[in-house]
Amino acid sequence: MIVILRHDAAAEKQEELVCWLEAQGLKIQRFDGEFQTAIGLIGDASRVDVELMSGLDIVEKVCRVSEPYRDCSRKHHPQDTVVNACGVPVGGGHFAMIAGPCAVESEEQIVSIARAVKAAGADLLRGGAFKPRTSPYDFSGLKAEGLKYLRVAREETGLPIVTELMDIRDLELFEDIDVIQVGARNMQNFDLLRELGKTRKPILLKRGLANTLRELLLSAEYIMASGNEQVILCERGIRTFSDYTRNTLDLSAVPMLHELSHLPVIVDPSHATGIARLVSPMALAGTAAGADGLMIEVHNDPMKARCDGAQALTPQAFAVLADKVRRVRETVMA
Ligand code: PEP
Ligand code: MN
Repeated sequence: MIVILRHDAAAEKQEELVCWLEAQGLKIQRFDGEFQTAIGLIGDASRVDVELMSGLDIVEKVCRVSEPYRDCSRKHHPQDTVVNACGVPVGGGHFAMIAGPCAVESEEQIVSIARAVKAAGADLLRGGAFKPRTSPYDFSGLKAEGLKYLRVAREETGLPIVTELMDIRDLELFEDIDVIQVGARNMQNFDLLRELGKTRKPILLKRGLANTLRELLLSAEYIMASGNEQVILCERGIRTFSDYTRNTLDLSAVPMLHELSHLPVIVDPSHATGIARLVSPMALAGTAAGADGLMIEVHNDPMKARCDGAQALTPQAFAVLADKVRRVRETVMA
């Protein structure tokens, strides 16, 4: 980290700042220019309060040289991480297709969708049993019963299951769940992230509605710093001033996250667009951008879906998309 001082910074104030930094275990290197002085911080500056320092009267600017995250950073781990989602590899050239309904609605529904997406080539089955809903009056999932139906669907198809955990108090219900999803609204539920870091479950971490990539990576860091290295990042669209789509799919997040981190990155075009007919083009775009997988909402009868019907593909449309995704991958990888 480099601190650039204002040209009129009083000597005693500079000395106070240097003492404050040294007291935090840092070594200081001064660069005295003709008009300005800069201070280089040597050592682990990750705990320095950058906002506090930037606000000081004698400080003009603070520049970070290294990122505040470590375990998820590519600098510290150059090789791609391959997450093992119950036998399905994700990342490092392994592409995972995750498909299923927004919410588990009945045993019949989840089993029939699981069979259809499996036949179309899906690698993992998704389905929410605990649903975060904006309104408290909306369907909030079948909870433990939903998990039971997901297990039945797994037995019937062999597809490992991905489902969202909203509250750490429910963790024991998730003991045999293959991949735990942390939803966009919980991306910065730090206590939840820390607890999931103590498990050895693969975690699918969705980007928050208004979160930066640095914040997403710091959330991944919470999980990893607690001991769990099995994290998959998911770009699912962010809030912008876009008026015709549910969110804006930030596709440049895919290559940028790959540059910054060794963790696999998948794209969820369903929540990003909110409109079924936009899901396929954006899924293909995400694939071409180098995603390590896709998460697609599929419903056998979207008109009757209890949640997110507008963005659900039918199993037939999913099969067509899955085939196109394979072809885009062949082209991009060639
Ligand atoms: C979901 O995957 O069903 C979901 C609720 O997604 P998000 O957290 O991205 O809104
Ligand atoms: Mn949904």
